[in-house]
Amino acid sequence: MSLPQYTELLGLSLQQLTEIVEGLAEAPYRARQLFDGLYRQRWSALDRFTTLSQSLRLRLSQSGFAVGLPRIEKKFVSTDGTVRYLLAFSDGQSVETVWMPEGDGGEAGDGSESGDEELEGLGAEPTRSWQRATICVSSQVGCAVECAFCMTALLGLHRNLSAGEIVSQILTVLADQQVEMQRDRVNLVFMGQGEPFLNYDNFMQAVRLLVDGVGIPESRMTVSTSGIVPRITDFGAEPVRPKLAVSLNAPNEALRMQVMPITKKWTIEKLIVALRDFPLRNRERLTFEYVLLGGVNDDVQHAREMVDLIRGLRAKVNLIALNPGPEIPFAMPSDDRVLAFQRVLTRAGIPAFVRRPRGRDIYAACGQLKHTTELVQLET
Ligand code: SAH
Ligand code: SF4
Repeated sequence: MSLPQYTELLGLSLQQLTEIVEGLAEAPYRARQLFDGLYRQRWSALDRFTTLSQSLRLRLSQSGFAVGLPRIEKKFVSTDGTVRYLLAFSDGQSVETVWMPEGDGGEAGDGSESGDEELEGLGAEPTRSWQRATICVSSQVGCAVECAFCMTALLGLHRNLSAGEIVSQILTVLADQQVEMQRDRVNLVFMGQGEPFLNYDNFMQAVRLLVDGVGIPESRMTVSTSGIVPRITDFGAEPVRPKLAVSLNAPNEALRMQVMPITKKWTIEKLIVALRDFPLRNRERLTFEYVLLGGVNDDVQHAREMVDLIRGLRAKVNLIALNPGPEIPFAMPSDDRVLAFQRVLTRAGIPAFVRRPRGRDIYAACGQLKHTTELVQLET
């Protein structure tokens, strides 16, 4: 007897679930119950769907359907509270997802809308050491974009993640951290492994499910791209979308070409044109990320070029000192140079923030997601 081919329910829209339910000759409202059970209640297996009749649950599983959550393969805990999860999917591929309690380190006071909000009614739980948290989500297994400073680039691209696999990372971490959506404040950043805009349709489907199903407002989500220009334009036209961050990392074509070879395909010039056309919402700002590589792109002259480049855009800049790693041929910038760089930007009227690295000791910080397993003790 051959095993049934599981069809994962996570990732399916209400419309798709309706088709399944109707195919089983059930009333369409069952699809809404299925949708709520998957995303709102976060039930991890079909036998927990107590809103459905036993016979429907049985027929769903007999038809080969399953919820489809990943397995927590490993879990590393940093001294700063950051947790790096290695999550394995049914085909054996795995990705990393990072939990950062108290925000992702750069939000408090960095002028972002989410960072400016009051922590209304939160923190009432005496046992809880965090009042809000950020989950850093992967969009692909590995990455095809060959940024010279990034450890994920060394993996190459293994495959895209499905919408369900993107959503399931968040559901797994929410369950493991015992988050209650009504009580706790959770932000999402799509800044883990992969280039979200090279897996655009699945990424956007995941966003819609997270908003409509899980109940995380789009205003609490930020996606970061290395600058896939046509997708930036598509993204601007989406009725529901996260905030946009762009990894700039160099202020001129020649230097960016060296550290981000993708610049050959989409030049800074094209990128800035697309960003000038990008329809920002009320009070929304673009974010530019800039990884400072010691002695390479961290001179005050580079900061001045950056000012000229982004002048007139409603934007802020997040400066990230290089997170070092094996096989990364760059050095960290000195604190003095980081501060001097920041000063040039802020004096020119551009809000600029230095991001505190999170979870460096467990290889959970930006650009360090490379399935590194040979360190620190395992928690699970
Ligand atoms: N692929 C997307 C999103 C994931 S990378 C992108 O590149 O935007 C998230 C951020 O980490 C990017 O801004 C990237 O420039 C930064 N990053 C990559 N490697 C880094 C490293 N070694 N140290 C610090 N930041 C790094
Ligand atoms: Fe990919 Fe982003 Fe890393 Fe570049 S920085 S290799 S786009 S994950």
